[in-house]
Amino acid sequence: MDSRRRPLDSEELARYSRQIRLPSLGLAGQETLKNSSVLIVGAGGLGSPAAIYLASAGVGRIGIADDDRVDVTNLHRQPLHDTSDVGLEKVDSARARIEALNPFVRVDAIRGRVTSGNALAVIESYDLVIDATDNFATRYLLNDACVLAAKPLVYGSVDRFEGQASVFATKDGPCYRCLFPTPPAPGAVQSCADAGVLGVLPGLIGTIQATEALKWLLGLGESLAGRLLLVDTLGVRFRTIEVERDPNCPACGTREIRALIDYDEFCARPAYAAAGPAIAGTISPRELSSLLNNGEAITIIDVREPYEWNIGRIPTARLMPLGSMPDAAAAIDRNSDIVVYCHHGVRSDLAAQDLVEIGFRHVRNLIGGIDRWSREVDPRVPRY
Ligand SMILES: [Zn+2]
Repeated sequence: MDSRRRPLDSEELARYSRQIRLPSLGLAGQETLKNSSVLIVGAGGLGSPAAIYLASAGVGRIGIADDDRVDVTNLHRQPLHDTSDVGLEKVDSARARIEALNPFVRVDAIRGRVTSGNALAVIESYDLVIDATDNFATRYLLNDACVLAAKPLVYGSVDRFEGQASVFATKDGPCYRCLFPTPPAPGAVQSCADAGVLGVLPGLIGTIQATEALKWLLGLGESLAGRLLLVDTLGVRFRTIEVERDPNCPACGTREIRALIDYDEFCARPAYAAAGPAIAGTISPRELSSLLNNGEAITIIDVREPYEWNIGRIPTARLMPLGSMPDAAAAIDRNSDIVVYCHHGVRSDLAAQDLVEIGFRHVRNLIGGIDRWSREVDPRVPRY
């Protein structure tokens, strides 16, 4: 929230009177909304109702990020834009619509893609972020950025006749990665453009996202944080399932993700199960120990950070922190027998996949990492 709280003027008091009348909202709640800011990433099917309702409700500052132009095929599900807007940048059309709807709202039109390079700077000045995108790369990017920046992320997605919504990256709740640790195989899930979508469905889910955003800003009711809402429009069924934070989640659990990665690359990676023969193998600490004792030539790569390396390591390992991979591995013969490890085996699993993808033939991930190595092979390596 802004440090200098701005009061409502008489026109605003009239405009919001039916909302101020709600005892649990009141004048104080309406002032809170005026002094709140929400970033909506995506000015399409989900972003349209979210932006319209948040602006109508009196959220003082709304950022809209989009890199697309209005197309005539968008209009059945994107009421931020109308026929005369076709060809305009969506952020311009959205701003004009919101300003016409409520001149008391400040609109930040954020052009271009939200990327790993700019996401943290873009979200920094907002109280809350709404994921109104339709692609997995941006979804993981926003998730990781919101976890790193400690901003609540109101999630929504639609697929044909079904939709989902939740609130992620809250102080104690799960994040998107807790539920969906790996992206679907490329091509396994089609976009709205490819699969088709009933226009009203993103309207419904985007409106739920706006509702959750308002509740969060006002501290009202029971948030969807910790629950996933599943909406089936054909059966008219709304269900919520409990979802918990995964202690092994690399974003919000172990917090191994300390910087934003290349999400296009992350989502282009084939899902592990579908990767076929080009998949890294695994090895247990005892197996590795016996191979080393037999004098096998194995290149051991430690992908942890230098401070972890200083705590303890496998003697013949080479340090190549995850962030330096796979480039750092360029000096290694692609035919060598490679074992990668980290603290618990999660980061090294990513590194192993990267190495396989750039052509290394014999890559294995050390199951359980240095921690299990310490427990099962060499107790002199301190556990941390
Ligand atoms: Zn998580």
